[in-house]
This record gives sequence, structure tokens and C-alpha cells, in this order.
Amino acid sequence: MLEIKNIKKSYKTGSFVQHALDGIDLKFRKNEFVAILGPSGSGKTTLLNIIGGLDRYDSGDLLIKGKSTKKFKDRDWDAYRNKSIGFVFQSYNLITHISILNNIEMAMTLSGKKASMRKKKAKELLKEVGLVEHAHKKPNQLSGGQMQRVAIARALANDPEIILADEPTGALDTKTSEQIMKLIQKISKDKLVIMVTHNPELANKYADRVINMQDGKIIKDSKSYKEEKDGEEYKLKKTKMSFFTALYLSLNNIRTKKGRTLITAFASSIGIIGIALILALSNGFQKQIDIFEHQISDAMPVVIMSTKSGLNAENVSSIIASESGMKKEDSENDFTDSNKVSIKTNENDSLGLAINPITTEFMDYINNIDSNYVSAILVRNSIEKKLIQKYKDAYINSEALMVTKTPLPDPCGDNSETFIDNYYDVLVGKMPTEVDEIVIEVGRDNTISEETAKILGIDKEDITFDDIMNSTIKLVHNDDYYTQRGNYFQAKIVDEDLYNNENNLELKVVGILRIKKEKYSTIGITDSNNAIYYSSKLENYIKDSASKSKIALKQKEVNYSVRDGRVFDVNNALGKYYLQQERMAVGALNTPYNIQIYPTDFDATDKIIEYLNKYNEGKSEEEQIEFINQAELINNTTSSIMSGITTVLIAFSAISLVVSSIMLGIITYISVLERTKEIGILRALGARKKDIKRVFNAETIIIGFTSGLIGILIANVLTIPINSYIYKLTTLKNVAILNPIHAVILIIISMILTLIGGAIPAHIASKQDVVTSLRTE
Ligand code: ADP
Ligand code: MG
Repeated sequence: MLEIKNIKKSYKTGSFVQHALDGIDLKFRKNEFVAILGPSGSGKTTLLNIIGGLDRYDSGDLLIKGKSTKKFKDRDWDAYRNKSIGFVFQSYNLITHISILNNIEMAMTLSGKKASMRKKKAKELLKEVGLVEHAHKKPNQLSGGQMQRVAIARALANDPEIILADEPTGALDTKTSEQIMKLIQKISKDKLVIMVTHNPELANKYADRVINMQDGKIIKDSKSYKEEKDGEEYKLKKTKMSFFTALYLSLNNIRTKKGRTLITAFASSIGIIGIALILALSNGFQKQIDIFEHQISDAMPVVIMSTKSGLNAENVSSIIASESGMKKEDSENDFTDSNKVSIKTNENDSLGLAINPITTEFMDYINNIDSNYVSAILVRNSIEKKLIQKYKDAYINSEALMVTKTPLPDPCGDNSETFIDNYYDVLVGKMPTEVDEIVIEVGRDNTISEETAKILGIDKEDITFDDIMNSTIKLVHNDDYYTQRGNYFQAKIVDEDLYNNENNLELKVVGILRIKKEKYSTIGITDSNNAIYYSSKLENYIKDSASKSKIALKQKEVNYSVRDGRVFDVNNALGKYYLQQERMAVGALNTPYNIQIYPTDFDATDKIIEYLNKYNEGKSEEEQIEFINQAELINNTTSSIMSGITTVLIAFSAISLVVSSIMLGIITYISVLERTKEIGILRALGARKKDIKRVFNAETIIIGFTSGLIGILIANVLTIPINSYIYKLTTLKNVAILNPIHAVILIIISMILTLIGGAIPAHIASKQDVVTSLRTE
């Protein structure tokens, strides 16, 4: 059955060499009860461990059914231990955190037997050793003798041909020892049992054969065996622990230290919480921005101004940066201690006040735009509109009141009506269509500004829609408003004569508008309580009249202001700009100061931009028209700020993730130290190094999964107060929503990181020496 040929084993401790086995030759029968006796330190355990494949011999050979083990690899030894050997130790070596039934099953689990079969066999074995009613107890709920019986049942689980027992009664009282010896004796009827003991009485009473050892040598063998031939051929079936077994073992182990596992998982989840929240928020905000952008796209015009502002989407962030003092260094370097003063021309000012060349050619180009993309084109002129009113026995001028006068967008294509319909409710009356018709916008809470009330001539506390509807305002023509004095023009004082001038156009309020509730937004479209709207007819009427006025004709010809005498340097961009402004104000120049092209929807904006870019193609920089895409402006700014903040925050959270995986590595390492004994037991039962690694990887994966799950759950809970806070600040509902895909990815990341963190400890665990592991308590 078993043959040992001149086996030697020595241990080196420092420079001292201990010859534990010094040339042992032994041969065992198929069925016999062998007792090995000898004083302490004589090499009994070493011999048993070598026979059992727990330890390796230095020289000689161990033959199993005639097969040499010289060329055995680790996994061959693992299979040999699992299939052919059953161990019984002095200190029982049961796994404490699983039931005794599961302890017995373990060897079968490692050899890949089916669960139902394992259970049946384990129950049978428990019955055999008389413990069937204790099946679900944990080892520490049993007495020493009972534990040893469990250990014997476990040793028998895989029907091994060899049972190795190392002082199985060493820790038991005489009576219990006798019972155990009887049990072992019974087993030896059809197995080879090799038992180490220091008790000669027990050995002589129960064993068939007694071998005495001393100083690593056999000194006496009561019934030696010399037979040459061994019938059977020895075959090894490889063991394999399934991942589920590893998971089961780890789950059970974790169950015994729930508190610590939870705290660990919670601590490691903090990084996940951070990243989850940041993702939820940035996700939510980006979604809101997208929704918002689509919602307001038809109210976010492409704007063309009379001057070039340089405010395109690319450089707006850098302008914000420099304006907000983020580019502090630049402005700090400007300061000087010198007492010299230098002249600085405005010509090349960075925010260059270059004229935007809005030519008639360009206006024609604009008017030819595909009407499918455009809901309205709003062209504003900066001709001053002299509206006058009688108020409390005095006369006032709208210019002084700063009431906004806005033409309604020029109908363009078939969608013209929808623009106003989209954004405004006509509360009373109708939209202005005739030259003398105006409408008043009230704020969302039906307010009008003090100035609007004044220019409407309303002087009372409780104003009704009727009061507004009954109001009229006088529009004065330039020629009546200005008196020429040589090369200059002077504004008249607004008095009864001017108010009652028969040339004046009396404007009637025909309607009251208010922004639609669903379109109102604190960031996008807002309401106004200070605006008068009128049709393009009135706009053209004023343009016409003003352009023919004396003041306009004069202003057209001179480079100074005919109203206040300012002289403009036309060689200077700023001078040119001011002259243009002055000419526009009196109607001498027909150039619009602002054109707003309203897209029909979000995608139409791109088409409009494309169309305008085409106009600029092949033109010199000076001839090119600058336009501002408001939607893009808002979007680019918010998006770039958002992504910047997101990146920084994620980086911070990532650090905490790394820290927590290092922490997890340490905790796994502690677990490895704690479970050294269990590792030894599993190895003795035939678990491979790989299997041990699996047990610990399973543990870290469980912790990683738990911490990921905790992180996601906490992050989800935290989004509730965060969302209610954001709602308070912005009226945006449910901004922070964690994308389920992100949640799953984060849990996986958590599992991977903890796996990496636990990889080194798991590797250390698998490398542990079996014999040493079993010795630790
Ligand atoms: P026994 O079981 O007969 O008491 P052992 O087989 O345990 O004896 O030990 C035999 C000798 O080998 C002893 O002197 C012991 O100190 C030594 N020995 C056993 N294991 C080791 C080891 N891992 N390292 C160093 N010396 C060891
Ligand atoms: Mg010993």
C-alpha cells in the first residue's frame, strides 16, 4: 500500500540543522492499525506529515501503491491529500465558523461531489460516530471527545484508504480516549490507519503493529512487512474547489464578524458615495441644461449687434475669467511705481469696438433666410422715440423715464404668429397691427413699473386693465422736437404746446401682454413690467419721419454731435462708433443696432449659424459679420464650468476610493492572519493554493460588492435632501438622479478595487506553509 524508502528530512534554524527524519524505511499493509510510539521530538509528526503529503521529504522516496512521488507537483499532492488521506489531529482542527455537518462535507466539497450526495454521506458519517443529533452545532458547542469524533468523521468523508492520526487522544481523558481508540480500531478493519501516540498502553492495547522511533530513526517494528508486490495501479483524481464553495466559506466567515465587515464596507463606500453623487448631479445638470436648451432654443436668438463685441462662444469663458479676476497676474503686472504718465489710445482695445458691417447687402441676405428655420427676425433701430405724456399737470418724456420700447419681430415665413403665441398671453385686447397701436407687457404678477405708469399717464393706486387700455401717448416728430440754432439743434422743453402739436401721432393701447406661465423661467425667458411693444408699421413710420428730419439730414453730414457738440475722431474706432450711435439716435443712419434671429427649434439654430457663416466665407475680417449664438453661449459656459467642477470632484473622490481599497487590503491581511488555521485545515483536506486565493478573493469581492451597494444606496438617499435643496434654490425638480448604468459600473469598480486591494494578502494566504498554518492557534 505505502512504502517509505530511506526518507530524510532536516530543518535548518539559523546555522543549526535538526535531522527530524534520518533515513526511514517502512512498508504498510492495506489494512492495519499502526501505532508510532516515541519520545517527544523523535520525528513522529514529521513522518506523519510527510506520509500525508503535508510536508515534503528532502531525499528518499514515498511510494503509493508502487508509484513514486518524486515527481509529484503541488496539485498532485493536493489531490493525494484529498482523495487518499484522512487526517485526525490532536487539536481537532475543525473550521469554527461553520456547522459540524459542513465541516464533514468540506473534503467532499473540495473533491467536487454533489450537494445532495455530500449531505447524505455526512449524515451517515455523523451517525457512525454517534453525533447525528448535533449536526447543526458549531464545533465550539461540543466537548473535546465529540469534536474528535467529528474530525474522524471528516477524515472518512472521501473514503480515503489511509487515515493519519497525530495524537488523537492527546487532549482527552482516559474514558473518552478509550472510546476514540475503539472507533479508530473499527475503522482500521478496512483501512490503513497510522496513529502517532506517546501512550504505549493504548498503542499496545488497540494497534496491530507498534513502531518505535527515536532521533529520527526506527528503533523497533513489532510486525514489519516485506511483501514486494502491490496489486492495484494508483490513479489520482484532481481536486477542484468551485467558486461558490469559496463564496460560501467567505460568507460564513464574514457572518461571524458582521459588525467589522459592515464598518469596513461603509468606510470603503465613502468614495463610491462621493463619485455617485457627483455623477448624479452632473448628469442631472447636464440633462437639465439639455432640456432647458431645447425649451428655450426658440427664445434664444442668434444676435447680430452694430458693433463687434468679441463675445463668441469660444472666448466668452476667457473673458469671464479675466473679468472675474481669475487672470490676476496680468492685471497685477500693470501696476507701476513710476511717476510717469503715458497716453493710451483706445484704438486697439481688447474688447475692440469695431463696427459690425451690417450693410444693405447683409440685410437682404438675412431676409432671404429659409423661413423654415426662423420663427421671427427682430430688427431694432436705436432711433430715439419721443413719447410724451401729461402727468400730474406736468409733461414728461419717455426718454427720461427709460421705458423700453420694443418692436415686435418682423413676421418672417409662416411661423411669425407662433413666436408671440408661444411666449405671451394676450390678457386683454389684441396684438398691435396698425401704426398707432401699442401693447403693454405686465409682469408675471400683473405689475407695471412706476415709469410705465407715468408714461401711460396713470396716476392712481388701484390700476385696472381698463385704465391701461384707455391710455394714449403722443409721439412727437423730430422736426417738432428739435429747434435748429445754426449748426446745432436744441431739444424743446416738453410743454402743453408740444403735447398738443397737431403733427403728433396719438398712440393707443390695444392690448395687454404677459409672459406665459409655462415659459417663464428664472434663467431663460423672463417677464418685464417696463415694456411697450408696437408693430413694424410704427417702426417704419418713425424711421421714415426721422430720416427726413432736419436734424438727421444735418447729422448725416458732420462728424460732431449736432445736439451736444461732441467732436468725433473718425480715424479712431471708438470715435467712429460714437458718431454711428449719434446718427442712429436721430435717424440719420438706418443701420439696425441689433438684429435678433429667432430659430424655430433647437436644430434650426445650427442651420442659421451655417447660413450666416456662409455669408462670411471669403470675406476679409473687417467685412465679416460677427454674430452671437446665445444658446451656445449659455450652454458652453455652463457645460465647461460643469465639466471642470465634475472632474475636480471626481478626482477627489477617486483618491478616497484608492485609500479605501488600501484599507481593505490591510483588513484582508488581518483576516488572512486570523484564518491561518482555517487555511491549514483546507490545505490538509486537499484545497489547492488557487482555492485558498479564491476564498480570500471571494471575501474581498463580497466586501467590495457590499460597499458598492451601500455607497449607491446612501448616494440615492442623499439625492433626496440635495434635490430638495436645489429645488429651493432654482425651482429645478429632481436634478440629481443616478444613472442606473453608472450605479452598476460603480459597484463593479468597487468590487475590482477591493479585489486588487486584497490580491496581495490572498496571495500571501495561498503561499502559507501547511504544517506551520496548522500549528498556529
Ligand atoms: P514529535 O512529533 O515526535 O514530537 P516532530 O516530528 O514534531 O517530533 O519534530 C522532530 C524534530 O524536528 C524536533 O526536534 C523538532 O524540533 C524539529 N522540527 C519539527 N518541525 C520543525 C520546523 N518546522 N522547523 C524546525 N524544526 C522542526
Ligand atoms: Mg508530534
